[in-house]
Amino acid sequence: MPFFICPNCKQRSVDSDGYDGFSRQAVQCRSCGFGFLYELLEDYYPAPETGFVVCDRETRVLAVGRGVFELTGFRDADLMGREVVEALALSDPSPIDVVQEWGVRKMGQQLAIRTRAGLPKAVTADFFPAYDDDGGLMLALTPR
Ligand SMILES: [Zn+2]
Repeated sequence: MPFFICPNCKQRSVDSDGYDGFSRQAVQCRSCGFGFLYELLEDYYPAPETGFVVCDRETRVLAVGRGVFELTGFRDADLMGREVVEALALSDPSPIDVVQEWGVRKMGQQLAIRTRAGLPKAVTADFFPAYDDDGGLMLALTPR
């Protein structure tokens, strides 16, 4: 059973309530109205301070969820369309390659990012492949 999570407010839902038959584009978050939900193969429980960043197959930022500003100091407009590894100065981009090449999650990666103020920040990063044709991915960043 597919699971869905809102990249903005992190509300989780399961595909068991009539979403079947609708195109994925028609699905939006019932909680905050965000324009799409991210499909997961398995359920996922983000921490309250976790922030989601959704990227396209070129790893450019498509969507920035609540919590990312608190974590990074970047506002949505600072990140949208930028290459995520570069924008956040991810200390190790290799999980992205694994996720995109193999279509598997990479959980609990102990990485560092650089905040807008230029300060290093230690995070735990979870990476999720996209299961649609877009071939993108989602990053869940949690301070540690
Ligand atoms: Zn939402």
